Amino acid sequence: MTPPAPAPAASPAPPPPPPPVPAPEVILEPAEVPQGRWLVVRVLGTSGPVTGELAEFGPLHFFRQGGEFRALAAVPAAATPGPRPVTVRWPGGEWQGEVRVVPYPFPEDRITVTPGQAASLDDPRAAEEALLLRRLRSQGGGPPLWDGPFGLPLRVDPLRITTQFGEIRYVNGRRTGQHSGLDLGAPEGTPVYAPAPGRVVLARELLLTGNTVLLDHGANLFSLYGHLSAIAVAEGDRVARGQVLGAVGSTGLSTGPHLHWSVYIGNVATDPTQAMTAALRPPPPPEFTPE
Ligand SMILES: [Zn+2]
Repeated sequence: MTPPAPAPAASPAPPPPPPPVPAPEVILEPAEVPQGRWLVVRVLGTSGPVTGELAEFGPLHFFRQGGEFRALAAVPAAATPGPRPVTVRWPGGEWQGEVRVVPYPFPEDRITVTPGQAASLDDPRAAEEALLLRRLRSQGGGPPLWDGPFGLPLRVDPLRITTQFGEIRYVNGRRTGQHSGLDLGAPEGTPVYAPAPGRVVLARELLLTGNTVLLDHGANLFSLYGHLSAIAVAEGDRVARGQVLGAVGSTGLSTGPHLHWSVYIGNVATDPTQAMTAALRPPPPPEFTPE
C-alpha cells in the first residue's frame, strides 16, 4: 500500500475581486415636459466631469449641487411634441434616455402697431441684434450665481400680466412667432429689479425690445428685460438680487408702458414663472479652502 501522496502546499487564496463600481444614476425631473418649460437633469455617483445634450435643443451645462451634478434643459415653446433623446457622459461611460415633450395650449394674441413699427420686424438691424443676443446666450456656463427661486422684477400690486409666455402672436394680422417672455403692465418709470444675482452681459438700446438688459445667472440661465424707459446698470456689472436694473417704459416695438421679461436656458426661451419655483434650488455654500 502506498501512502497517500502528500497534499500539495495550499497556495494562498487569490484576493477577492473588488466590488463592482455602481454606474452613475441619471434622473430626469420630470421626464415629461410641456412645451416652453424646462427639466433638471441630475447625475449621482460620479466625480465628473459630466457633459451631455438634449437632442435638437442644445448642450447641457452641468454644475455641482452638493454631492451630484445638475443641468437645466429647456424645451422650446414651438417644439414638436414627442420623444427627444438625452445623452449624458462621464469619464468612462455614458447614459442614453429620453424626454417626452407634451403639448401646451398656448393662446393667441393679436396686436396692432404703426406701419413704421411693423417694418422694424424686417429691418436687417433686428436680425443682427438677434444674432448678438444668440452669441451672448451661447457663452453661458460656470457655477450658478442664483441664490434660490427668482423673485418678481416688479413690486406692483396687483401684478398685471398683459401677455402670457408662448402666446401665438400676430402683428397687424401677420403671424410673427410665439411670445418669448411675460409682459407685465406697469406705469412708465416703475423700477425694475433683478430677480436673482447675476452679471450684466448686455445693457443697450435694441430695435425691437428698446432699452434692454440681459443678465447671465450662471449655469446657462439668462434673463432679459425689454422696453425700459431708462437703464440703471452697465455691461460687465455684477448685480445683487433686488438691485434696480432700470425703469418700465415703452421703447422699441411696444404699444404702451410694460416690462417684457424673458428667461432663457442658453438660447431657448422658457416660461419665466418656472424660475420662481423651488425647482431652482439655491446652490450649496462654497467649499471651505484652507489658505
Ligand atoms: Zn413682450
